[in-house]
Amino acid sequence: MKSGTCPKCGSNEILPELRLHGGGGHPTYVDIKEPEPATRPFIWAPKSEQSQFVAYICGGCGYAEYYAVNYKALNEGRQKGYISG
Ligand SMILES: [Zn+2]
Repeated sequence: MKSGTCPKCGSNEILPELRLHGGGGHPTYVDIKEPEPATRPFIWAPKSEQSQFVAYICGGCGYAEYYAVNYKALNEGRQKGYISG
């Protein structure tokens, strides 16, 4: 879809990078967090990363793909062992 062609119907009428809106007035997002250490320091707060999404939607059939905007930071968090928040 980022290539500009729908993989389902072959249309090239793609709506790019539409923002997603969730319930409660907040955009839909995911987050990942540093797991709590076995020996937790007295003062400790998990580091975290989060991301909203953009959608690519086919104007020919409605097929949609979603991309995390902040995927690089999410992947860096994954490499550090962060887990779903
Ligand atoms: Zn399509």
